[in-house]
Amino acid sequence: MAEETIFSKIVRGEIPADVVYQDDQVMAFRDIQPQAPVHVLVIPKQRVIPTIADATDDDEPLLGHMMRVAARIAEQEGIAKKGYRLIVNCREHGGQEVYHLHLHLLGGRSLGRMLPG
Ligand code: AMP
Repeated sequence: MAEETIFSKIVRGEIPADVVYQDDQVMAFRDIQPQAPVHVLVIPKQRVIPTIADATDDDEPLLGHMMRVAARIAEQEGIAKKGYRLIVNCREHGGQEVYHLHLHLLGGRSLGRMLPG
């Protein structure tokens, strides 16, 4: 079984989060250190998938659902028309800090080039 994470505690309501959406499969809440006016994380609820590299073929519907939920939240947040960015960081070189798969939804300003430099 994958390790507990801070996001597991958010799913169980043991630590607070600013939840913007949830259903039986996913939860979405505002990032505690936002990098843009809108910065929301979409995570799976039912089990911890540490990284995108750990997802299996069986997870494909869940992964698709995470993307669709992010797009719907972007509409709700009023950033869809101008556009936004979805990011999944993977492991050390990807800059992943929390080993509980999550999709970053970022927007509300021009985000510039995808990578600095
Ligand atoms: P990553 O680098 O892709 O693993 O991103 C982890 C993200 O989780 C960072 O943007 C953090 O600011 C965010 N984060 C960490 N702890 C919390 C928390 N308790 N509530 C909301 N966001 C968090």
